[in-house]
Amino acid sequence: MFGTSSSAIDDDRGALEDALVDRVREIVGAPDYLQRAVDADRAGQLSIDNVRALQEAGITGLVVDPRFGPNGARLELVVRVMEALAYRDASTSVALNMHWLGGRTLARLPSFPRRDEALAAIAAHEALICGAFSIPTGGLDSRKAALTCREAGDDLVFNGRAGFGSMSDAASYAMLGGTVAGSDASDPAFAITVGRFGEPGLINHHNWSAMGMRATASNDIECRDLCIPKSDCLIAPMSSFKARRQTETAAVAFGITAIWLGLSQAAFDFTVDYTQNRYGYMASGTFNASASQYRADEAWAQSAIGNMDHWLGTGRVLLRDMVARLNDYADESVLTRDLLRTLFHLRRMSEEVAMGAMKTCGAHGFVTERPLERIFRDLIGGIVMAWKTDQIQQTLGIGALGRPITFTGPAGS
Ligand SMILES: Cc1cc2nc3c(=O)[nH]c(=O)nc-3n(C[C@H](O)[C@H](O)[C@H](O)COP(=O)(O)OP(=O)(O)OC[C@H]3O[C@@H](n4cnc5c(N)ncnc54)[C@H](O)[C@@H]3O)c2cc1C
Repeated sequence: MFGTSSSAIDDDRGALEDALVDRVREIVGAPDYLQRAVDADRAGQLSIDNVRALQEAGITGLVVDPRFGPNGARLELVVRVMEALAYRDASTSVALNMHWLGGRTLARLPSFPRRDEALAAIAAHEALICGAFSIPTGGLDSRKAALTCREAGDDLVFNGRAGFGSMSDAASYAMLGGTVAGSDASDPAFAITVGRFGEPGLINHHNWSAMGMRATASNDIECRDLCIPKSDCLIAPMSSFKARRQTETAAVAFGITAIWLGLSQAAFDFTVDYTQNRYGYMASGTFNASASQYRADEAWAQSAIGNMDHWLGTGRVLLRDMVARLNDYADESVLTRDLLRTLFHLRRMSEEVAMGAMKTCGAHGFVTERPLERIFRDLIGGIVMAWKTDQIQQTLGIGALGRPITFTGPAGS
C-alpha cells in the first residue's frame, strides 16, 4: 500500500465491500438456502447449514477480520450485509449479529489465552461465539438471573443460568461474565471469560421456543461448577466495565435496525406482489360478491402501500446517513439524540410496515403457505427485543428539554 493514494485505498476497500455484499446476496438468494431458512423456522432450530455457508464465504468473522482493517469491517458494510441477509433469513442474521457482539467484545479485551484463541478462530471465520446475558427463558426477575463465581485456589468456579444465547447451537464458545462472591459490595469484582462448549460445567439447554425469530437458537446457557483458571479470566471492578463508547453500542444496535430494514423490505415486496395478483373480495360465489378488480386498484390498498413505502424509504436513508456520520460528532449529546431518533424511526418503520402488510393482504396473506406469515413473526421478534417505542419517544422528549439522556444497546449497555 506504500505510495498508494487514499482514494485508491478507498476504491480497493469499496470494491472488496461491494463484492462481499454481492456474495451475500448470491448465497441467501439460492433456493436451497431459502428453503433451509423456512424449514429451520418451522422446526424452531438454527439452520447450521446456513451459518456454515456464511462461514465458508468469509462473512462470520467480518467485524474482527484484519482484511478489513485493524478494527474489522466498517459499520457501513455490516449494515449492508445484515440488510441483505435479513431479507431472506432474519433468524440467522440475529444470531450473526449477537455473534458479532461477542467478537467485538473480545477484540476490546486485553489478552488472555481463551480470549486470544476464540478471537483468532472468529477472525478466521472458523468459530462462532454466543452470549446469554438476559433473564432465562420463562423467568421474570432480573435479580434472580446472571452468573456468579467464587475463588477456589487458582481457579474461578462459575455458576448460574442466563437466557437468550443466540447462535449457541453453532457456537464453539460462550462469553461469560459474573460477579466474584465476597468482593467489595460497593463495587464488586467482575470476571469475564470465554467458555468452551464441550467442557464440563458449560451447558446449552437447547430450550429456545418463541413466536418469531424461531431459528436463532437463543437458548439458556448454564454454568454448573464450571472451573476456569484465574489466569484465563479478566477480573476487574464492575465500575471499570461500564464506560463504553456510544459508537460501539450503536454498532450492535444498528446491526439490529438493518435486520428490521431487510425484513420490512421483504414484507413490502410481498405486499406489492400480492396486491397485483389478489382479485376481488372473499369468493365470487358469496352473496356479497365483490368489486371485480385487483387489490392493487383499490384506493385504500394503494394508500397503505404508500405509507409502507414512505417508512421504508425514509428509514433506509436515515440509517445509511446516521452510519456514515457516526464518527463526525464533536458534541456527545447531539450524537445521542441523533442515534435515538434513528432507532425510533426504524422501530416505527417496522411497526408500520408489519401491520401495513397484514392489513393490506388480510387472511390470504396470513396463511403459513405464504412467506409473509414468517416475515411478520420475525419482524415482531426483531422489534420485541430490548427498546420500547414509547420509552425511546419519552427519552427523545427529555433530550429536547435539554436534560441528559443516554443511548443504550439491546442489552441495556
Ligand atoms: C430473537 C432475540 C434474540 C436475542 N438474543 C440475545 C442474545 O444473544 N444475548 C442476550 O443477552 N440477549 C438476547 N436477547 C435479549 C435482548 O437483548 C434483551 O435483553 C431482552 O429482549 C430484554 O427483554 P425485554 O424485552 O423484557 O426488555 P426490558 O428488560 O423490558 O427492556 C430492555 C431495554 O431497557 C432499556 N434499559 C435498560 N436499563 C435501563 C434503565 N436502567 N433505565 C431505562 N431503560 C433501561 C434498554 O434500552 C434495553 O434496551 C434476544 C432477544 C430476542 C427477542
